[in-house]
Amino acid sequence: MPAYDPNNIFAKILRGEIPSIKVYEDSDTLVIMDIMPQADGHVLVLPRAPSRSLLDADPAIFKPLFETVQVIARAVQQAFGAEGVLVKQFNEEAAGQTVFHLHVHVVPRKAGEALRPHSGKMADMTLLARHAEMIKQALNSPQT
Ligand code: 5GP
Repeated sequence: MPAYDPNNIFAKILRGEIPSIKVYEDSDTLVIMDIMPQADGHVLVLPRAPSRSLLDADPAIFKPLFETVQVIARAVQQAFGAEGVLVKQFNEEAAGQTVFHLHVHVVPRKAGEALRPHSGKMADMTLLARHAEMIKQALNSPQT
C-alpha cells in the first residue's frame, strides 16, 4: 500500500489550507459537505488523524470517528426528513476511493430516490451552505 500523502485534499482541508463547508468539528473529527453530493445532505466525516483508509488506520480512532458518524447520521436524517441513512467508506482505488485520507460518507436516503453518481457533478456552493445550516440546526436541537 502506498504511504499516506500529507498533501491530499482532505489533509489540506483539515489544516485549513483550502476551504470547505463545515458542519461539525471536535478534537478527533471534522464533518464537511461533500462538494459532489449523491443526495442532498451528503456529508463526509474525516478523522483528524492521518491514514489513507481503514486499512492502515490506528484502531483507536474508530470509536470517536463512529461516535461522530452516529451523531451526524441522526442529524442528516432529521434535517432532510430521511427514512434511512447510507454510511459508506471506500478503501483504495480498486474499491472506488478517490481521496486518500480516511473518510466516511453519510447520505440521507428516501425510498425510491435514486442516488446521483459518486464524484459526479459539483453542487452549487450556496445550496451546500444552506444544507450545512439545516444539519447544524438539527445538531443543536436533536429529536432522538
Ligand atoms: P471517495 O474517496 O470515498 O471515493 O470519495 C471522495 C469524496 O470526496 C467524493 O464523494 C467527492 O465528491 C468528494 N470530494 C472530492 N474533492 C472534494 C473537495 O475538494 N471538497 C469536498 N468537500 N469534497 C470533495
